[in-house]
Amino acid sequence: MIDVDGFIAELGDIPVITERALVRQKSRDFFWYSPILKDQLNSKSADLIVCPRDEADVVAVCSLCARRGVPLTARGAGTGNYGQAVPLEGGVVLDMTSMDKVLDLDGGLLTVQPGCRLIDIERAVAADGWELRMYPSTKRTATIGGFVAGGSGGIGSVTYGGLRERGNIVAARVVSCEREPRVVTLTGDAVNQVNHAYGTTGIITALTIPLAPKLPWMDVIGSFDDLMTAVRCARTFGLSDGIAKKLASVVASPLPQNLRNLEVAEGKHVVIAMVARHALTAWRDLLAEFGGTEILCRPTADAELSPELIPAYEYTWNHTTLHALRRDKSVTYLQTLFPPDGTLELIQATHLAYGDEVMIHLEFLRVAGRLTCSGLQVVKFSTAERLWEIIAEMEARGIRVANPHVVTLEDGAGHKRIGAEQPAFKRLMDPAGLLNPGKMRTYVPETGGGEDGRR
Ligand code: FAD
Repeated sequence: MIDVDGFIAELGDIPVITERALVRQKSRDFFWYSPILKDQLNSKSADLIVCPRDEADVVAVCSLCARRGVPLTARGAGTGNYGQAVPLEGGVVLDMTSMDKVLDLDGGLLTVQPGCRLIDIERAVAADGWELRMYPSTKRTATIGGFVAGGSGGIGSVTYGGLRERGNIVAARVVSCEREPRVVTLTGDAVNQVNHAYGTTGIITALTIPLAPKLPWMDVIGSFDDLMTAVRCARTFGLSDGIAKKLASVVASPLPQNLRNLEVAEGKHVVIAMVARHALTAWRDLLAEFGGTEILCRPTADAELSPELIPAYEYTWNHTTLHALRRDKSVTYLQTLFPPDGTLELIQATHLAYGDEVMIHLEFLRVAGRLTCSGLQVVKFSTAERLWEIIAEMEARGIRVANPHVVTLEDGAGHKRIGAEQPAFKRLMDPAGLLNPGKMRTYVPETGGGEDGRR
């Protein structure tokens, strides 16, 4: 426990939250998807929450944390998995949601504060004919800062690839955690120093991202008797360059029966997609070619505006797992990436090997210009040992696993390591290792530091 009163006294008028229940609530994210992380992280809590209003407030908090040796963990909406925003060593959680302004929009290039919700960005830029290139299925709650610092890609990645693809993030302004913090602007490949770094390498105070021309999107769902036919249909859809699309997902039986407000017959597999309204005929021709039956077709915007309807994207990505967890609290999931060659054979092989123990859920996306798919398979959890065994078997087959049952960047990465640029940048920006401590396993902090004696 840090000296909370002393800390607040030095903070001046920057808003704080000290009420225990709220502090605990804002110290949590969606780590509970993993039964392993649930045990590990349930009791973790910050000592207080600080809510910066602007970059000057962020600088003041970073300086104070550095002087006092207090751990500092940024938080957007707290929808991350992996315990990304959970303060393992207590200290301050920095709630970024008051920094939610759109700063500039010029020729499809948007600069925005990090606490802006993705849905609010889409609303703000729509009038000028733009939309986000990609967003997570948590678009309606998550922030842009949390997406860049914790996410990987999502709806739109079938066209634009993941966040990591060169060009998807143009610039980031970042504050260091030092007694006299520096504000650094990263551009080009240098943004990888903060992209998917869980806020361990600096606090993002502004982001510049390219947008896409806005299109009227349709939610469409096709149902299939045969899983591999559904997979082939989704893959062909993903490869159909003439069709403007935002989403190509496959949810295998028995998972579609979990999807709330959607009637899917027992035993059927579904392809869930978002297609531009002008490409509906092309989608239907493709569906007919593969013998699928359309069971839903409606404007995405209608579902987003309705209190009863669920947009198709909230059946996909990690929402599929959430629908399954609502039905059966004992399931969990994997996060995998299939290689672009032999994708279909590997999907079939894992389906045959595990059956309903590892239920197939796929998201087609581009990686370095090639179409492949990410799997967010829903797993019937038995023991941690069995889960590690399945992960090892998948990796032996050449399927990368971004293990969602661990908290560190290194262990959660598909390659089991992080690029050299992140630890190097951390040494510059956070020499004492105060930013989200415990998440970058391979970083050894410099000693010395704060009055509170944490570091
Ligand atoms: P948080 O969870 O609050 O934070 C995420 C990470 O970013 C933390 O490490 C935090 O410390 C850091 N951070 C936040 N703000 C800053 C800042 N200003 N500076 C530095 N670091 C910061 N992810 C995907 O990529 N694609 C998906 O489709 C997807 N679907 C999901 C579906 C469900 C149902 C759930 C529960 C999660 C899903 N996720 C997905 C994970 C998560 O929702 C997204 O990554 C989301 O964008 C995180 O945003 P957030 O505002 O909630 O961030």
